[in-house]
Amino acid sequence: MKLLVTGGAGYIGSVTVEALLSEGHEVTVYDNLENGYREAVVQDAGIVVGDLSDADLLRKSLGGMDAVIHFAAHSKVPESVTMPAKYFRNNLVNSIVLLNAMREEEVPKIVFSSTAAVYGVPSACPIMEDSPTEPINPYGESKLFFEGILEDYHRAYGIGFVSVRYFNAAGATDRLGEDHRPETHLIPIILKAALSGSAEVKIYGTDYNTPDGTCVRDYIHVSDLAAAHILALEPGCQGIFNLGNGTGYSVRQVIDAAREITGMDIKTVESSRRPGDPPILVASSERISRALGWKPRYPELGTIIETAWNWMRAHPEGYGK
Ligand code: UDP
Repeated sequence: MKLLVTGGAGYIGSVTVEALLSEGHEVTVYDNLENGYREAVVQDAGIVVGDLSDADLLRKSLGGMDAVIHFAAHSKVPESVTMPAKYFRNNLVNSIVLLNAMREEEVPKIVFSSTAAVYGVPSACPIMEDSPTEPINPYGESKLFFEGILEDYHRAYGIGFVSVRYFNAAGATDRLGEDHRPETHLIPIILKAALSGSAEVKIYGTDYNTPDGTCVRDYIHVSDLAAAHILALEPGCQGIFNLGNGTGYSVRQVIDAAREITGMDIKTVESSRRPGDPPILVASSERISRALGWKPRYPELGTIIETAWNWMRAHPEGYGK
């Protein structure tokens, strides 16, 4: 297929582009390189450096495309709490610009990066797709609003959509890994501390109603996420799907696993809760398994951390920008 991948120079986007190319798809990345890296775009992909707010450039880039995979977004929960305008402008308003450009260019399908943050504080785990959606931060809200718009555009204009609600993406391929600046995600922060030998990892909140008092998350390998996006392109595939491994690990458990894998004594310091964090997020991915035959290749937390560690040791400066 001929695909436009927005945010294809970012973490999950770049890994998906690599996987798409290896399966013979023709890919153009559309990225403003604000948070992405040219070095993360695999050579065989085309690249358009542009912003999602640029409707003309989007229309030009969309001509003849079979589908869009839409990763481009701001994705830091704490930042969304202090800067909601930034999140609604980019994740919502600019995503609508993209959708309207797709409509004008008659691009029939979009696969959208959504998030577990749409569920807020879930009443039961594992979370199913029809669990109540009550986000507790603007990041989750921005993604949920856009899912509603996708439903409306599908109904009114026939644009097909798949929304993939990710749990916690982590891990790396041989070539591509996670390099956010500043880094806010737990696994790369822990591994950076291991690499430095001295930095302390802050544990945000030790008084949650969880087995060890720290937040529990469902970590999923970035390559397993990429594989799901490719399956979502199948003709007729439509709707909302969770994507996680179905197993939760606390912050302390992740730190212990990283100590074992790196062989380093990672120092920690207990800190207050981070605004916007739900205590537990664990996915049921039964729907995507049943509908598309998706199955994680790297479900083990140890493998996920190990691949991230290998990439970080090979790229201590990240992409070096
Ligand atoms: N976390 C932490 N210390 C850090 C970064 C994250 O204790 O330096 C916690 C965070 O509060 C959350 C979990 O680790 O409970 C996962 O956070 P992350 O930012 O990786 O992903 P999120 O679940 O927010 O998407």
